[in-house]
Amino acid sequence: MKYNVNAIRNDFPILHREVYNKPLIYLDNGATTQKPLRVINCIRDFQRFRNSSIHRGVHYLSEQATGEFENARKTVQQFIHALHPHEIIFTPGTTASINGIAFSFGEKYVKAGDEILITEMEHHANIVPWQMLCERKKAVLKVIPFSDEGKLKLDELDRLITPKTRLITVIHVSNTLGTVNPVEEIIRKAHASDIPVLVDGAQSVQHTPIDVQKMDCDFFVFSGHKVYGPTGIGILYGKEKWLEELPPFQGGGEMVDVVTMEKTTYNGLPFKFEAGTPNYIGAIALAEALQYISGLGLDHIAAYEQELLDYGISKLSELEYVKLYGTTRPKSAVISFNLDGIHPYDAGMIMDKMGIAVRTGTHCAQPVMQHYGISGTIRASLALYNTCEELDALVDSVKKVKTMFS
Ligand code: PLP
Repeated sequence: MKYNVNAIRNDFPILHREVYNKPLIYLDNGATTQKPLRVINCIRDFQRFRNSSIHRGVHYLSEQATGEFENARKTVQQFIHALHPHEIIFTPGTTASINGIAFSFGEKYVKAGDEILITEMEHHANIVPWQMLCERKKAVLKVIPFSDEGKLKLDELDRLITPKTRLITVIHVSNTLGTVNPVEEIIRKAHASDIPVLVDGAQSVQHTPIDVQKMDCDFFVFSGHKVYGPTGIGILYGKEKWLEELPPFQGGGEMVDVVTMEKTTYNGLPFKFEAGTPNYIGAIALAEALQYISGLGLDHIAAYEQELLDYGISKLSELEYVKLYGTTRPKSAVISFNLDGIHPYDAGMIMDKMGIAVRTGTHCAQPVMQHYGISGTIRASLALYNTCEELDALVDSVKKVKTMFS
């Protein structure tokens, strides 16, 4: 199949709008992706014709909605190649999934003096919940550092893993540097010491095929809105044995079996972890998004985005005043850079006026900025619908910014 980016762009209505009377060039996909029409229509049609709360309803609409919700779970299961549908828990997003595991795993398995191992390139969502756990339990947070090229220093892993390590959590693809981390290698080493691993897939699942069984991670989390689905829905994948063992992280309706005033027993998987009315419309629309990108083919998407990435990097590298961050390979479709003597925020404001949407700042990864001693970067994060012409426009805008500040 030939990758037809122009046809694909027609699936995304927002890409045809203008900002400041200029065509929108959307390069902020790491923050959130745009939605194809079929996802937009899925939400609209469900609200309009089929809406009903799921589970425990005997009426037609409720049964139909329940069926669609549980089918969405199976779609996610197949998308990430989980063994069972009940290993897929719907949450509000990556942040909620990580907080849930940090609480639940922490309550059961972490005690004073134990260690949690994270990396220096985590998003705040995969730092703060573990710091909160460590504070609660008087445990210790340890950090795998990275090199200036943006590569994790895995030779330090043998030293950092100790008999007190309870869990390792690692970002699959860095949202600031684009580095694709060798999670399989980390997982192999961790498992050799019986340590479970959580993989933050918020920036990988939209760029590359995921097989959680091959990866052998214990937990894998991601957000719907970064993978062409809606906001407010995300996934917590956990191996059955872990989800069976862990206590629920929220109490309420649906997650219970029998409730008396003295005691509550819990529902089975996956419902034990889905307290309250779930975002069933979000789940159904997320499944629609996953079907859409599966139809395009994750391999095709990955190959196309690599071409885009290489093109953008080669063009920006020609400019001697551009400093790129995250030069190691393999690398996903994120270009983080700064312009000599120009604050990223100022550059981003000017680029915006040219119709170019990039993100500036710390990208919720302040320790990465601290590593380089900078206040932030300009980040162009690419998606399956971006083009080389858009990257040319990005480079032109960079030149213009430089001229204006010279
Ligand atoms: N982890 C990574 C790597 C991210 O890039 C993000 C968002 O940018 C998150 C976690 C948090 O995702 P959310 O805000 O959707 O919960």
